[in-house]
Amino acid sequence: SSAFQHLQQAPDDPILGVTIAYNKDQSPLKLNLGVGAYRTEEGKPYVLKVVREAEQRLIRDGSRNKEYLSITGIPAFNKLSAKLILGEDSPAIHEKRVCTAQCLSGTGSLRVGAEFLAKHYPQKVIYIPTPTWGNHPKVFTLGGLQVKSYRYYDPKTRGLDYEGLLDDLRAAPSDAVVLLHACAHNPTGVDPTREQWEGIRQIIRSKNMLPFFDSAYQGFASGSLDEDAHAVRLFAADGGECLIAQSYAKNMGLYGERVGALSIVCASESVATRVDSQLKLVIRPMYSNPPIHGAAIVATVLGDRGLYQEWTVELKAMADRIIRMRHLLYEALRARGTPGNWEHIIKQIGMFTFTGLTKEQVNFMTKEYHVYMTSDGRISMAGLSSRTVPHLANAIHAAVT
Ligand code: PMP
Repeated sequence: SSAFQHLQQAPDDPILGVTIAYNKDQSPLKLNLGVGAYRTEEGKPYVLKVVREAEQRLIRDGSRNKEYLSITGIPAFNKLSAKLILGEDSPAIHEKRVCTAQCLSGTGSLRVGAEFLAKHYPQKVIYIPTPTWGNHPKVFTLGGLQVKSYRYYDPKTRGLDYEGLLDDLRAAPSDAVVLLHACAHNPTGVDPTREQWEGIRQIIRSKNMLPFFDSAYQGFASGSLDEDAHAVRLFAADGGECLIAQSYAKNMGLYGERVGALSIVCASESVATRVDSQLKLVIRPMYSNPPIHGAAIVATVLGDRGLYQEWTVELKAMADRIIRMRHLLYEALRARGTPGNWEHIIKQIGMFTFTGLTKEQVNFMTKEYHVYMTSDGRISMAGLSSRTVPHLANAIHAAVT
């Protein structure tokens, strides 16, 4: 008999499980639009040229060793990461009010942030948008916070429920933590306009709430690193505090290297110093210290003018390919006379299209057309190519007619 005899079989993860089902499918037509990972026009995973070059440089550098990093990781990586999201001339950085810890990609940064807040921030409620990335409620709950939600997406307009969002934040307790997607909201692809961001900022600041930005797609949404950092910088510019979880999974294609950063913008240098010391106490018993390789790649790219420049070009090319797929799919549906309005495909931002397809329609497309996606109707545009768009358009057309 086993000590674990009583265990039930757990379901596959709703997002990663899509890939498991896809791998089992023998059809040559099969198409995986589930997980958010960039694919080339040939449908292949892509390692950025600047990443290859940085790795070569790291290997050639004979002075490097495999000693432990400090608890908060590579100092240069942390500095450069804060600069990337907050901007070259960020007053918060100049005033030494920002403390940054290298963490395990976006997820690990969110989790460390959650545990830190659960331990040190009196108001332990975090508001997350409906819908949001499926891992958010679990990360924050297990991190020790109480999770509540605010309205975000309006299925009728397939746009932002701005009034609902403002009402829910107005009704929330003051001091609550508010999770905001920095850009390219996942799964909806719907972002607030600049005016709406300003409205959100005013409510959050007037209620003394604490914004927690999840920045998983900087540069990947619009193709511009600065443009995609607009919301974070708007909040940082008012001098108030915030948390920022950054991921390099998408924008540097470092998914499996697990590179990210948690930055906490504080009111003063003296607070930042104490926050930093307490962050270490949160991280040390969790995983002791982060891994070297991925963060060394990022630090090499961000710290070298030439590589940085090349990175922005590759990043823009990835973003542009995704935007091109939006237009191709939209045109393919129009050409088929597929019923319904599909303009949201070209209006939405980032890696995903929130198609509005129902669970039943998704099941139909998987069964009949071998198209794999999450059951909420979200498709990863990055998994499409001009070769596979017609097949997807056929599948959508058949599902809705
Ligand atoms: N936040 C959002 C909104 C995401 O979409 C993702 C990736 N799917 C993440 C965080 C974290 O990803 P990772 O841990 O791979 O950086």
